[in-house]
Amino acid sequence: MAATILDGKAFAARVRGQVAEQVAQLKEVHAITPGLAVVLVGEDPASQVYVRSKGKMTVEVGMKSVEHKLDAATPEADLLALIQDLNSDDSIHGILVQLPLPDHMNEDMVINAIAPAKDVDGFHISNVGLLGTGQKAMVPCTPLGCLMMLRDHHGSLSGLDAVVIGRSNIVGKPMAQLLLGDSCTVTIAHSRTKDLPDVVRRADIVVAAVGRPRMVLGDWIKPGATVIDVGINRIEKPEGGTRLVGDADFDSCAAVAGAITPVPGGVGPMTIACLLANTLTACCRANGLPEPTGLTA
Ligand code: NDP
Repeated sequence: MAATILDGKAFAARVRGQVAEQVAQLKEVHAITPGLAVVLVGEDPASQVYVRSKGKMTVEVGMKSVEHKLDAATPEADLLALIQDLNSDDSIHGILVQLPLPDHMNEDMVINAIAPAKDVDGFHISNVGLLGTGQKAMVPCTPLGCLMMLRDHHGSLSGLDAVVIGRSNIVGKPMAQLLLGDSCTVTIAHSRTKDLPDVVRRADIVVAAVGRPRMVLGDWIKPGATVIDVGINRIEKPEGGTRLVGDADFDSCAAVAGAITPVPGGVGPMTIACLLANTLTACCRANGLPEPTGLTA
């Protein structure tokens, strides 16, 4: 039986719609407009594209969008001073510093300078600790998007076997924490994992966050399992040009899986939608208002 295709583009549009509705209510009932500040240092072309689309979608859901573009040679102290200004600006509820930063900057120090309550990327060490101990945190956007899609598809995840391939701080580890929070039995696999196909074969849920094109094959997948493909890999097409593929070999996996996210159009669009959801959550928390329903971990 062919797998259900989990349409991240449509899901993300739905999430943005929910965010927009709740933003409109915040404005009408409480005269509060959530604000997101995005800081870009340097001219990395991919980062410029991300920042542009983040700004556009922030405005589309009715939030205030502020962009700070700094020269690649900006001293780290100037960036830290800007973050302090944004930390104390009451009209800004979310701060995102686009990574990667230039080599002369210490990414950990910069991220940890953001007020944890405004850290909508969920990378601040306080949020990492809160998530790891099952407390209310700001949750990294990509894993949050994966969790939302899984909950939407499965309802309860309790008791399911989940294998997360990848142990990065931005995807693999927080994903594993979220799945554990939803009572999955979680295995984290990585480059030193022995017999990876066998490990993956026992999973009801496979999250691939590796960065290796089409590495996960259909005969690794338990029939009926759900495959969440986080990978974004650009490969050469035989006829020339390039295209995006995930970490899962889509055709062979879709032939066995119960459900699978495509690349593009799966997890990717959920990341910005969850950034907006996190900004709304941060705004509600800052104002002592109830958190938006269905948009948090
Ligand atoms: P990292 O490079 O930080 O981490 C990759 C992980 O994969 C590491 O833990 C590594 O193991 C593991 N790995 C590498 N090779 C193998 C292998 N052969 N077998 C098993 N595990 C392996 O990547 P990220 O987590 O940042 O990103 C992963 C992918 O997700 C990338 O394609 C990235 O572009 C994409 N991505 C997509 C996003 C979206 O919005 N959809 C957002 C963020 C990322 P080890 O630790 O042992 O080296």
